[in-house]
Amino acid sequence: MRMSQFYLPTLKETPAEAEIVSHQLMLRAGLIRKLASGIYSYLPLGVRVLQKIENIIREEMVRAGAQEVFLPLLHPAELWKESGRWYDMGPEMMRVKDRKDHDFCIGPTHEEVITDLVRNEVRSYKQLPLNLFQIQTKVRDEIRPRFGVMRSREFIMKDGYSFDLDEKGLDETYQKMFEAYTRIFERIGLEFRAVEADTGAIGGKSSHEFMVLAESGEDAIAYCEDCEYAANLELAQSEISIKEEYEELKDLEKISTPNIKSIKDLEKFFDLDGCKMIKTLLYVAGDTMVAALVRGCDELNEVKLRNHLGVANIRMATDEEIIEKTGAPAGFVGPVGLKNIRIIADPLVMRIKNGVTGANEADYHYRNVNPGRDFTVAEEDVVDLRTVQEGEACVHCGKPLRIARGIEVGHIFKLGTKYSEAMGATILDENGKERPMIMGCYGIGVTRIIGAAIEQNHDENGIIWPMPIAPFHVIILPIGKDDQIMEVAEDIYEKLIAQGIEAVLDDRKERPGVKFNDADLIGIPIRVTIGNRGLKENVVEVKYRDTGEEVKVEVDKIVEFIV
Ligand code: ATP
Ligand code: MG
Ligand code: MG
Ligand code: MG
Repeated sequence: MRMSQFYLPTLKETPAEAEIVSHQLMLRAGLIRKLASGIYSYLPLGVRVLQKIENIIREEMVRAGAQEVFLPLLHPAELWKESGRWYDMGPEMMRVKDRKDHDFCIGPTHEEVITDLVRNEVRSYKQLPLNLFQIQTKVRDEIRPRFGVMRSREFIMKDGYSFDLDEKGLDETYQKMFEAYTRIFERIGLEFRAVEADTGAIGGKSSHEFMVLAESGEDAIAYCEDCEYAANLELAQSEISIKEEYEELKDLEKISTPNIKSIKDLEKFFDLDGCKMIKTLLYVAGDTMVAALVRGCDELNEVKLRNHLGVANIRMATDEEIIEKTGAPAGFVGPVGLKNIRIIADPLVMRIKNGVTGANEADYHYRNVNPGRDFTVAEEDVVDLRTVQEGEACVHCGKPLRIARGIEVGHIFKLGTKYSEAMGATILDENGKERPMIMGCYGIGVTRIIGAAIEQNHDENGIIWPMPIAPFHVIILPIGKDDQIMEVAEDIYEKLIAQGIEAVLDDRKERPGVKFNDADLIGIPIRVTIGNRGLKENVVEVKYRDTGEEVKVEVDKIVEFIV
């Protein structure tokens, strides 16, 4: 590529709207331009980086046995109603109507679409396991778009979905994906950590986030240097509170655990699919809030039930019943007095989705209630909000925890049967018995990675690309007006390209200072400078962007040196 023809508008000044360094540098180095809040165009330099990242992801996904598909951006509402998420997703999901007044959403994620695709074709266990992925634009109307491509409203995600016959199959697929993700982020050259994560709105039984360590990260993680424990801080907080609460409540007679001897009983009792996922239940009974937190475990010792009224006579209403009773599909709060609500024990309660609420009477409890959306809790009613501090005892080994900030670049989930059951994605097993497929889902924030990589690799002069995702490997800088300089530069350029090296030649008629500054700003790993002084000694100067190391290399040897 010749710089004189390359669409690379760089900026000298730091744009005022950009808060963090990666956003500033992406604008300054001409990788992106803003169209509207959280919506960006990628310029040629940005696209080159994007494609490098995509290719690494592709290669590793395919190596791990996944196959690439490409799914629609527009999803009919009916599909999302089948899973129930049409009502759960809230305003982050963009909704549109077609000319016939039919409801659609612009895909924020693709569990429903993929489940639909597979349920219509896959009928026998012989067709499993199946692992499909795509690299595609996602739209989420983020409440606070910021940090450029890190939290944008339109972004590119690699999303993958697996289908297995049984839990064991899912465990194996999940492990393979975990390893593929580790390879991907290692290959890209990121410093990251895999941490246990909350399963959030997507639901599921177990999940890990891949966090790029960076001060500007919106997530916080807690990790133990002694045991392997590492978790998203939200999760670590709930674990610590649950443990302490349980210790405190253990002896209290008030805890009622009617016929609940195992998680299975609890699952049945609460009529929830998969209490193994971290489930925070919240329900309001009369004027007292009762909260139960269930942490993924096989024993009850991590389960906390706080119960003023006894939960034994409470049966959760089904979605149909909710609609019938309230006329609203989900999230309706019954005629409950919401005075004197106390949030017991856990900050997560404030953020939970899919809570349960209802009156102090059997059959009047509604599922899928979303506190904040469906009712609000006064701040003074919130007690015991706490955060994990650096040095707090690790719940597993008791050694002090460390806290760090991270950027979530990848997220993998064991979904189980949440979607396959709701949407009837079943197969016939070896015995001809029909059963729901066991699913997993695996996301990577492709565009977010660009920002994360810059957060970790920059200095005061600009970006320092790790070689595997650098838009070019080498930048050739002819400095000076002599014809010979340009001839040597052209020659090196042609030869590097012939060797498959991605080189860019700064053939612009600019002052040396401008060329040097731009080269540093756009962060090309190797710079080859050709000037009068060097040519007199028959050498060119090689400088490495990361270490700043400079080496003089004979003109005839430079191509060999770089290749
Ligand atoms: P976050 O917690 O940052 O909002 P998320 O948990 O909502 O992310 P997932 O549903 O797990 O995101 O999506 C998979 C990946 O997509 C994330 O790990 C992240 O890298 C990326 N991603 C999610 N939202 C955005 C966004 N608004 N802009 C850019 N990338 C995003
Ligand atoms: Mg999000
Ligand atoms: Mg997240
Ligand atoms: Mg996530």
